[in-house]
Amino acid sequence: MKIIMLGAPGAGKGTQAKKLAAKYDIPHISTGDIFRANIKNGTELGQKAKVYMDQGLLVPDELVVDLVVDRFKNPDCEKGYVLDGFPRTIPQAKALDEALTKNGDSIEYAINVEVPDSNIISRMAGRRACVNCGATYHLEHIPPKKENECDVCGKGLILRDDDKPETVEKRLNVYHEQTQPLIDYYQGKGVLFEVDGTKDMDEVFTDIVNLVEV
Ligand code: ADP
Ligand code: AMP
Repeated sequence: MKIIMLGAPGAGKGTQAKKLAAKYDIPHISTGDIFRANIKNGTELGQKAKVYMDQGLLVPDELVVDLVVDRFKNPDCEKGYVLDGFPRTIPQAKALDEALTKNGDSIEYAINVEVPDSNIISRMAGRRACVNCGATYHLEHIPPKKENECDVCGKGLILRDDDKPETVEKRLNVYHEQTQPLIDYYQGKGVLFEVDGTKDMDEVFTDIVNLVEV
């Protein structure tokens, strides 16, 4: 099962991607998580990506595409994957298609998690991420069991630098300009599915499962 999660930053792509990955036993591939891990480990890629991420800009396509295409070579991708945060531009989508076509593959579901911009700022301001394992919470909607402590690994939770309101606004503009065109792109390929991301997290998940299990 090859799935792409589409939607604005903070729409709930990661939240749903993790649940899909667990249910169908396929890897959750988040380019944002890959960059954050590289920043944490002080790699050259991390240093380059951070400059763009801190400004709410997209990391250049040439730093992203090979990373994902290489990741597909891992044996855990044999049954498929959920891509979260990739592709984010039309050139990335075309590069992905090209890499898949070479192996006679294609994306089966591009799931657009729809959340209006008016909800996004509060989604991002309330998001907390584990410093260790990357699990995400929301202070109001999906709180951790213990305040400021990850349910999964017990480590601390932080507000991501790029979730601060001034950067979120920039990220939303970038989304509308560079990523939203992917909705039409995947519609044209006949693989676009839309879900209402303003519903409760479990209801959104049920809607997605009903789409992919038809
Ligand atoms: P994305 O991966 O699209 O950037 P996340 O999955 O990290 O978004 O979700 C953004 C924030 O919204 C997180 O704090 C998450 O816990 C919260 N969230 C996700 N889905 C829902 C939902 N259906 N209702 C309310 N809050 C949600
Ligand atoms: P995310 O965790 O998906 O919200 O991504 C965080 C940041 O990482 C984004 O704001 C971008 O700066 C960068 N990023 C993640 N994925 C991509 C991508 N596919 N293309 C370009 N930049 C990306």
